Amino acid sequence: DKSSIKANAKRWDHFFSEEAQRRKPSSIKAAARAASEPGMISLGAGAPSAAYFPFEAVHVNIANPPGFSGAPEGSESILHMAKYDFEPNSSEYSLDVALNYGQGSGAAQMLRFVTEHTELMHSPPYADWGCCMTVGSTSAWDSTLRMFCEKGDYIIVEKYTFASALETAWSLGINALPVGMDAQGLIPDALDKELSSWEESKRKARKPFLLYMVPTGQNPTGATQSLERRKAIYAVAQKHGLYIVEDEPYYYLQLPAFRAKEPSGETQGCGLVPSYLSLDVDGRVLRMDSLSKVLAPGSRTGWVTASQQVIEKFVRQNETSSQHPSGFSQVIIFKLLNHHWGHLGFFKWLENIRAEYMWRRDAFVQACVNFLPEGIAHFVPSEAGMFQWIEIDWKSHPLYKTGAGHQKIQQTIFDSAVQKKVFLVPGTCFWSASELPEDRMFFRATYASASQEDLVEAARRFGDALKDEFQ
Ligand code: PMP
Ligand code: PLP
Repeated sequence: DKSSIKANAKRWDHFFSEEAQRRKPSSIKAAARAASEPGMISLGAGAPSAAYFPFEAVHVNIANPPGFSGAPEGSESILHMAKYDFEPNSSEYSLDVALNYGQGSGAAQMLRFVTEHTELMHSPPYADWGCCMTVGSTSAWDSTLRMFCEKGDYIIVEKYTFASALETAWSLGINALPVGMDAQGLIPDALDKELSSWEESKRKARKPFLLYMVPTGQNPTGATQSLERRKAIYAVAQKHGLYIVEDEPYYYLQLPAFRAKEPSGETQGCGLVPSYLSLDVDGRVLRMDSLSKVLAPGSRTGWVTASQQVIEKFVRQNETSSQHPSGFSQVIIFKLLNHHWGHLGFFKWLENIRAEYMWRRDAFVQACVNFLPEGIAHFVPSEAGMFQWIEIDWKSHPLYKTGAGHQKIQQTIFDSAVQKKVFLVPGTCFWSASELPEDRMFFRATYASASQEDLVEAARRFGDALKDEFQ
């Protein structure tokens, strides 16, 4: 029994926002415990009868990737879900249940699957951890900020970070404290220095304690933190009493080779860089997982993992907002993951997706090598995720000598690229500091969805735009 040897998580009462402290369990839900007694006629829950749902059954065609359980290439499997087809050990989760109101933590069936998956992948090193289903990491991040922060607080972020994560914070009146990055993401010494030199009176804000990071295939830089880097950052977090949020939609898109193994409980990470969750002896990490990049973004399904104290707050928050992912999403994904694929099949699927991103990255990076002008464009090939970060030596642009600044030159290059019919996102869209950068210039390219031909053509066009601009 692992729980007898692992300690419980630290308590985070001192970090909860006023909003989180005001969240209490629903009084109806507490009273409704009586409704589950045998023989009870419930006139309680305001839930409609499934008899009035017009959806009698759902049939879903699932693609069988090449080499998948011996299925012929290009073949499909059909999953059936119907009302009232509950059967212990076979169906477990029927349409009438899925389409009614459920728990704030998500369907028990789905929750069990992701909890098992989390144990297999990360085996958190403390006892009282748990998961809660979410409608994706966008929403989970909004919930997290509401749970930990007050207006006027600072959160700690990577210098360049996911634009929507910044917008969520800014719209809540929360400020960003940017910390320097290198090719491996956030720099631990820079983090320590920022926090050690924090002056409440000068900043007119308490010392930041919430650290938001995208440790793997970072959006937008593509940077992936090594295990040593993660350990060093965790140590700084312990020193300054930080709470860590790891937002990991690209965790499975790690491009160095990894192989799925039997889920024996010892396969931790299947060769993937260990997560913060797997290093988290204190229970100071909230991990956000998302099915958006490995199944489909429109499923709006993901989950968070943290200590039970934090998970309980998440459940309370779901109860008064999204409630839980859509019943259609949960029942379809559960049938797919639990019944059709199982844990091993899901690992194989993840490996299959990873292989797709591998050829995409290779095709795009090779085209960049071939077409981007040397000395003007610089890049380190991405090792995870869907982004390639490209640095431009903007100080050798002809306009620089005439006194043009970063913004003007970035715009000129962007316009030139658009004129050549290629769209990349200017780096400043991800800039987390209030004053604009003056030092380095970047553009973000994604190789996630363009065809192989278009990936090559896009690099050629961007290369042509740069050659025109810098001649
Ligand atoms: N508003 C009112 C007045 C309700 O009665 C209910 C359902 N009981 C809701 C909102 C919740 O609606 P939804 O299921 O769309 O979240
Ligand atoms: N977090 C990061 C770092 C992302 O890049 C994205 C998607 O672009 C998301 C979260 C959004 O995830 P979800 O679809 O689960 O809301």
